[in-house]
Amino acid sequence: MTQKNPQPVAVVTGGAGFLGSHLCDYLLAQGHQVICLDNLITGNLANIEHLAGKPNFKFIKHDVTEFIYLPGAVDVIFHFASPASPIDYLELPIQTLKVGALGTHKALGLARAKKARFLLASTSEVYGDPLVHPQPETYWGNVNPIGPRGVYDEAKRFAEAMTMAYHRVHGVDTKIVRIFNTYGPRMRPNDGRVVPAFIAQALKGEPMTVFGDGKQTRSFCYVSDLIEGIYRLAKSEGHDPVNIGNPREMSVVEFAEKIRDLCGSQSTIVHKPLPVDDPKIRQPNISKARSLLNWEPKMDLEKGLTLTIEYFRALIDKGHV
Ligand code: UDP
Repeated sequence: MTQKNPQPVAVVTGGAGFLGSHLCDYLLAQGHQVICLDNLITGNLANIEHLAGKPNFKFIKHDVTEFIYLPGAVDVIFHFASPASPIDYLELPIQTLKVGALGTHKALGLARAKKARFLLASTSEVYGDPLVHPQPETYWGNVNPIGPRGVYDEAKRFAEAMTMAYHRVHGVDTKIVRIFNTYGPRMRPNDGRVVPAFIAQALKGEPMTVFGDGKQTRSFCYVSDLIEGIYRLAKSEGHDPVNIGNPREMSVVEFAEKIRDLCGSQSTIVHKPLPVDDPKIRQPNISKARSLLNWEPKMDLEKGLTLTIEYFRALIDKGHV
């Protein structure tokens, strides 16, 4: 980052996950040494197998809710470990709370011990089912703490509070990114999120499962744009949270139709019950990222979806879906 070390050492927790693995790739390309920590409960070694044997890359299977011991210097820590899809955190509620709370504490402790910069992967879920639209960083959110999504939302809200406490009390140089819906290659086909679900259904000619009436909205950011924004944030000087996402908002039904068209599929659309506390609207206000980081997303939705569809098509051809 800004340190003198010509090959700064970056630690990525959750580095074998969807975003973590893309971040490892990006950091290596920028000349960092990368230490990837992951307990593989939702991460996947296939996401980092192309990095095996690279001299600047090291993978350590580790649950970051346990004490993290690393010898040597560390310049920056990217704390990305967490179940991150609604199905994952419904199936792993206690692990989700533990990694957001205990895992964030351990990762911050490592940052303090190594005098490293720290970047927390937070989420638009801190805004809950928002009553302000689009969502600016100044909005405090509308979260149900005891609902099924509360395990993720509150864990991330706690993680933000803990990160600011380490900054204020221990002077750790911390950053917080609030990540909005992101898509791209390496999403798990069965993680239940809308992008892999719709693409897999469309490619296999199965009915596409729209939850509720499908009028709820989301705004989708391609992974390369997101990683670029996160890297710029890591190099910036502020400490307050910054939204990174794509403001192009659409309803879930419109999104299903777009994916069906891009896949050239004849799938029908079926409606399933809306999950509890499913946010009705979501769109990032990215004014802060624009002014602070000179960042905005560049990838066109159709192009990003086409790249993602190609990835899933290859997985299906190999019989992995
Ligand atoms: N969704 C859907 N069908 C699916 C999966 C998700 O209609 O098979 C909807 C879901 O109810 C939500 C939106 O798509 O309104 C985005 O869901 P996702 O799980 O990707 O993430 P969220 O933004 O809710 O965290």
